[in-house]
Amino acid sequence: MQAEKAKIQENVPLAPLTTLGVGGQARFFVKLRSVRDVEDAVAFAQAKRLPLFVLGGGSNLVISDQGWDGLVMQIAIPGMDERQEQGKALFEAGAGVDWDAFVAHCVARGYAGVECMSGIPGSVGGTPVQNVGAYGQEVSETIVSVLTFDLGDNRVRELKAAECGFSYRTSIFNTSQRGRYIILRVSYSLQAEAKPSLRYADLQKYFAGRDGTPSLAETREAVRKIRASKGMLISPGDPDSRSAGSFFKNPILSASQHEELTRRASERNLQVPNYPALSQQRKVSAAWLVENSGFKKGYVKGNAGISSKHALAIVNRGAATAADILALKDEIQARVEQIWGIHLEPEPILVGF
Ligand SMILES: Cc1cc2nc3c(=O)[nH]c(=O)nc-3n(C[C@H](O)[C@H](O)[C@H](O)COP(=O)(O)OP(=O)(O)OC[C@H]3O[C@@H](n4cnc5c(N)ncnc54)[C@H](O)[C@@H]3O)c2cc1C
Repeated sequence: MQAEKAKIQENVPLAPLTTLGVGGQARFFVKLRSVRDVEDAVAFAQAKRLPLFVLGGGSNLVISDQGWDGLVMQIAIPGMDERQEQGKALFEAGAGVDWDAFVAHCVARGYAGVECMSGIPGSVGGTPVQNVGAYGQEVSETIVSVLTFDLGDNRVRELKAAECGFSYRTSIFNTSQRGRYIILRVSYSLQAEAKPSLRYADLQKYFAGRDGTPSLAETREAVRKIRASKGMLISPGDPDSRSAGSFFKNPILSASQHEELTRRASERNLQVPNYPALSQQRKVSAAWLVENSGFKKGYVKGNAGISSKHALAIVNRGAATAADILALKDEIQARVEQIWGIHLEPEPILVGF
C-alpha cells in the first residue's frame, strides 16, 4: 500500500509548536514522516522558490512575530533500531523521535552514554545541531553518523561524526553549513554494562553519601529531578519551563579577557566562580554574569521575564510576543557588556527576523 502524501497546509500558527510559545504563522507548513516526504516537500519549495525552515520539537527557537514567509517542514520521521557491535550497541533513531523517549529507551535497555541528557526537550534530529549536552555529557561523545538530505545537490548523504564539526553547542549544522542539511536519522554508539557518568557536581551532590554506584535508571531519575528543580524540564504546570532553555551560551574567554573579568569582579568585591566543568576551557558561567548585572531570578519585563528558578532562562509569562522576548534579551546583553565587557551570545535560533 502506498503511504499517504504529506499534506501541505497554509497559514499555520507556529507558536504552539515551540516551547517558548511566541511567533507568527508559517505561510506553508508540512509534517514529514519519511525520506520520500522530505523529497516531495523540498521539490514543492524549490518549484515555488520558497525559503525553507526545518522544525524539530521547537525547543530551541524564537520565531518572529511575522512568522515564516516560506515552507516550514516539521520532521516527524519515526523509528528506533538497535544493532550489536563488539560490546557496544548502535542505536539508530529517526529524527522525529522525541529525544527523552529515546534516552528512556536506551536506559531501559541498559546502555550508557546519554543518561545525563535525560529530560532535554526536542527531537533526536535536533541533537546534533547544537551538539546538545547536559550534566557532563554531549551527544558528540556517542554520535557515530548523521543521515541527512543535502539541499546542496538534493541527495541523501551520511555524515560521519568527524565531518560534523562538533564542539561546545556547535556543529556544521548551526555554523558553516547552516540550512544545508535536513537531518533524517542519527546513530549513537552506546556502551553495555557501563557505569553512569557522574562527572557533574550537581549529580555528585545528589548521590553523596550513598553506597555503591547508582544505576543508569537512578541517574536518569536524578537528572530529571534536578532539571525540574531548575525549571529545565518541560512541565505544563510550571510557568518557568515556558522557555527555550538557557538563553545564552557560557562565554569562552581568552586569557586576557579572563584577567579583565577577574579585575572587574574584584573591584566589586566579587569572585568569578570556578566550576571545574567550565574552567577547563576558560568558560565562564553566563548565569553568574546575568545575575551579577542586576537580573535576579524572577525579574519581570512586561510579558517576558527571567525564570524564578534559573537566571539563564528567559520565559514567556503568558502573553509575550517575540519582540518582548528580544527586548529582554537586548537589555541583558547590553548590561552584561557594559558591566563586564563580555558579549553574551544567544543559544536559541532566531527564526524569521
Ligand atoms: C526547558 C528546556 C531545557 C533545555 N535544556 C537543554 C540542555 O540541557 N542542553 C542543551 O544542549 N539544550 C537544551 N535545550 C535546548 C533544546 O532542547 C535543544 O537544543 C534541542 O536539541 C532542540 O531540538 P528541537 O528538536 O526542539 O529543535 P528545534 O528547536 O525545532 O530547532 C533548533 C534548530 O535545529 C534545527 N533542526 C531541528 N531539527 C532538525 C532536523 N531534523 N534537521 C535539520 N535541522 C534541524 C532547526 O532548524 C533549528 O535551527 C533546552 C530547551 C528547553 C526548552
